[in-house]
Amino acid sequence: MSGVTLDRVTKRFGEAQVIHGVDLTIEHGEFCVFVGPSGCGKSTLLRMVAGLEETSDGTIRIGARDVTQVDPSERGVAMVFQTYALYPHMTVAENMGFGLKMTGHPKTEIDRKVAEAARILRLDSLLARKPKALSGGQRQRVAIGRAIVRGPEVFLFDEPLSNLDAELRVEMRVEIARLHKEIGATMIYVTHDQVEAMTLADKIVVLRSGRVEQVGRPLDLYRDPDNRFVAGFIGSPS
Ligand code: ADP
Ligand code: MG
Repeated sequence: MSGVTLDRVTKRFGEAQVIHGVDLTIEHGEFCVFVGPSGCGKSTLLRMVAGLEETSDGTIRIGARDVTQVDPSERGVAMVFQTYALYPHMTVAENMGFGLKMTGHPKTEIDRKVAEAARILRLDSLLARKPKALSGGQRQRVAIGRAIVRGPEVFLFDEPLSNLDAELRVEMRVEIARLHKEIGATMIYVTHDQVEAMTLADKIVVLRSGRVEQVGRPLDLYRDPDNRFVAGFIGSPS
């Protein structure tokens, strides 16, 4: 089982404290969305789960394992960013398999995992292409494919669709929902898009100035926000 548990997680950058003792439980297989205004600490919190930022205080567990001091590559997480650098000289298949190749996995295993990821993301017919011959949405699917190939227990997404135009965002939203349904992994997804949060989330975490303001199922937050701040993000106007 690979839920994610945050216990009094704190982050300071020098004198500035940006995350203030966050407690949070994300269940195994849950799709959890972080929302909140720019600068409230969504990315920092996600990067701490990934191990890309050290925690100043507190504990992060994945399943029963305390990963607070564990190297990012050993945490069983894969992160998808808003900007996704694909290697221009490599094909789609090579881009997706590169991580496994670098860690010495045998070619047959890499090929099998790339084929499986391509099937899930419907990239089968594009495997031999170079990134420049892909649309923006297809490139972002390759970036997600790279994460799938690594077989993580936990997927971390930091505003993965915010560089895409509105139509593609809708398409990719459906794609990500399907991905979650198909592979059932735990997912933490950062967005400032209310519709994305409402449609994708099992659970929404509203962050404000480095603190959890409210946690709940989308409809519960929508119908019954604790305060005006939460209502401003996801609640119905009241
Ligand atoms: P969000 O993703 O919600 O927009 P961030 O997590 O990026 O917010 O940032 C939270 C706060 O931490 C902001 O005030 C930001 O300026 C600060 N911050 C983020 N990264 C650093 C850093 N490397 N050094 C100093 N301050 C940082
Ligand atoms: Mg951010």
